Amino acid sequence: MSKVRSANLGYPRIGENREWKKALEKYWNGSLSKEELLAETEQLRLQFLQKQKKSGIDFIPVGDFSLYDHVLDTSVMFGIVPKRFTYNRGPVPLETYFAIARGTEGAVASEMTKWFNTNYHYIVPELEDAVPTLTENRPLAYYLEAKEKLGIDGKPVILGPITYLKLAKGYKEEAFASLLEQFVPLYIQVLKELAEAGANWVQIDEPILGTTLSKKDIAFVKQTYTEINKAVPQINVLLQTYFETVNFYEEIVALPVQGIGLDFTVGDTLSLFQTYGFPEDKVLAAGVIDGRNIWRTNLEEKFTLLEHILLYIDKKQLIVQPSSSLLHVPVSKQLEEALNLVIKDALSFADEKLAEVVALARGLQEGKAAIQKEIEESKRAVQALNDSPYRNDKQTQKNIRNLNHFKASRSLPFAKRIEKQQALFQLPLLPTTTIGSLPQTPEVRRTRLKWRKGEITEQAYAQFIEAETKKWIDMQEEIGLDVLVHGEFERTDMVEYFGEKLNGFEVTRNGWVQSYGSRCVKPPIIFGDVSFDKPMTVKESVYAQSLTKKPVKGMLTGPITILNWSFVRDDILRHEVAYQIALALRKEIENLEGNGIKMVQVDEPALREGLPLDQEKWQDYLDAAVYAFKLATSSVQDDTQIHTHMCYSDFEDIIEAISALDADVISIETSRSHGELISSFEDFTYDKDIGLGVYDIHSPRVPRKEEIIQNIERALQTISPKQFWINPDCGLKTRKEAETVAALKVMVAAAKEIRKAQLALQEK
Ligand code: GLN
Ligand code: ZN
Repeated sequence: MSKVRSANLGYPRIGENREWKKALEKYWNGSLSKEELLAETEQLRLQFLQKQKKSGIDFIPVGDFSLYDHVLDTSVMFGIVPKRFTYNRGPVPLETYFAIARGTEGAVASEMTKWFNTNYHYIVPELEDAVPTLTENRPLAYYLEAKEKLGIDGKPVILGPITYLKLAKGYKEEAFASLLEQFVPLYIQVLKELAEAGANWVQIDEPILGTTLSKKDIAFVKQTYTEINKAVPQINVLLQTYFETVNFYEEIVALPVQGIGLDFTVGDTLSLFQTYGFPEDKVLAAGVIDGRNIWRTNLEEKFTLLEHILLYIDKKQLIVQPSSSLLHVPVSKQLEEALNLVIKDALSFADEKLAEVVALARGLQEGKAAIQKEIEESKRAVQALNDSPYRNDKQTQKNIRNLNHFKASRSLPFAKRIEKQQALFQLPLLPTTTIGSLPQTPEVRRTRLKWRKGEITEQAYAQFIEAETKKWIDMQEEIGLDVLVHGEFERTDMVEYFGEKLNGFEVTRNGWVQSYGSRCVKPPIIFGDVSFDKPMTVKESVYAQSLTKKPVKGMLTGPITILNWSFVRDDILRHEVAYQIALALRKEIENLEGNGIKMVQVDEPALREGLPLDQEKWQDYLDAAVYAFKLATSSVQDDTQIHTHMCYSDFEDIIEAISALDADVISIETSRSHGELISSFEDFTYDKDIGLGVYDIHSPRVPRKEEIIQNIERALQTISPKQFWINPDCGLKTRKEAETVAALKVMVAAAKEIRKAQLALQEK
């Protein structure tokens, strides 16, 4: 009898209590040896595999685990190590691996950027002088490990060549074909060795197929998989796509592979499937459980969907699975003891999602009655949250309906506003500032923890935060910065902080997901209608401003970033949630202004990453994002200066939307992408004030003055000094105090030097 099978695509690496993160950081600070790190992480990996096996999943992924990032893993597997790191040949040593990711004294780290439209960041491969070779067969090692240690016949996961090359940089478009020619034989070698070791199915991830590709690209895809199939016919290739409906559906399902993985939780996958059908000779891995959100599935609906899919294919062709790797959700909701039960019942993290997948596969196999209990429970949980007062706030819903005719623009155009602002602030040419957060010492974190546990009083905690703020206001004055910040010492995280204070949010205790490397974030859950409760940042900002004559920026996280870095309810449209948040922030800004804060920064680092993968959907998203930002920021007086900040994305193609935010000043990261952004200002005249990050804060290295000067001068070739600001490329929270002070002093010195030169020029 043919069995409906279940699969997973990838399991969270971090462990239920972030054991993985802790081990890595101990290794980096020298308190764990390499052997200990490898032993600890192996234990974790085996534990993850066992959990998946116990849950009843048929296809358990292996090789999805990583010590930092799976794209970097792919790079080192193929010997792609940038020249500035010492490397000869053979397996890339762990030290070099981490050096590429994190930088060293002598060599800057590789750039990192967002993984499609998620908040996971990968290390961008640099192919400048690539001589691809197979340095080690990683998937094979993991396959053998699972087999030998646990008797699990796993499904190796590999990042596919098309996606890998598309995500890489350092080559011209014309070189794509020849690079592909060099990489494909290496992939074939990997697959051959896997086949020899007994691997049956291999999952090759090609999420790039969900983005907008050209006909030529599809020809490359076809050529690649034809070659692979010819060379290793004995292996079953499951070509896995996710995050978006594939472009070129017909061509893709016709590829000479044995299985296709499609994401049925997005876009029009189902309608394409119905229109064009699915080949009889292939397996369909149907991603029906959303791998990226944390909501419990209404199993009835998904069961019906799968029954529908089975009208077109045979049971034996079907694999039930999550829509993507579960890397993007927390491990298990069992640890959430403090959570409101209505909410907790409606949640599903990685482990719970696997149970959903297994239940659905079993229901299809044994008949719906076999999982009736699970179906009923899931329906009840989802319904209870929908019917709760949290999702039925009449006033908020009315406010959103009334937005229809609301324009949300500042009263004066920028050119007029900036005159008034300059009159008020009297800033020098090329003003210096920072992005907001200042170093959070272990003491800051320890004190916050004590306060959370109730070990110190509210008042003692507030005093501690004030002392820290004061120390840094003094320090910023001494460093000579022109526009100061309060330092964000009261915040663990820029989204969580607001999540704890706005209505409609819930913050989990342990809902961590990997953001980049060992860094994890704990996205708040937007479970209900969002509204303003009481001032969230006023006390801290007003206090900081009271200590200095220089302007202190009020500091908020923008509506789109709050949205994109939270887990968002999926019963209403996302942009409606964004507008609810924006209206709440608007009240906060009015409060700040009412208390004398005349500069307010509204950070939108996550604006870009929310872009749909399908370019046709970009404009709608950007229009809504711009509107939300303006909704939050447009009520202020002309001489109140609105700042925004963005980082770690490619901004070139959304410059117009960025400009449309109509923020008076924007600070944008550029130092890690080595200035590529600057060239886009040659084509697009950005008319408002702008600061391009002049040094990389993700490395502990103190920059040299010449480097910063060089960065500034390069920017000034396309941007007028009159509109240019000088700042690091992101917040300084993760840095140490001493290195931060040193780096900022260098930055201010560089600014002064260029300022002087510019003034001399202007006098001529
Ligand atoms: N204001 C925030 C900070 O400085 C911005 C962080 C970010 O861009 N991710 O930390
Ligand atoms: Zn930033």
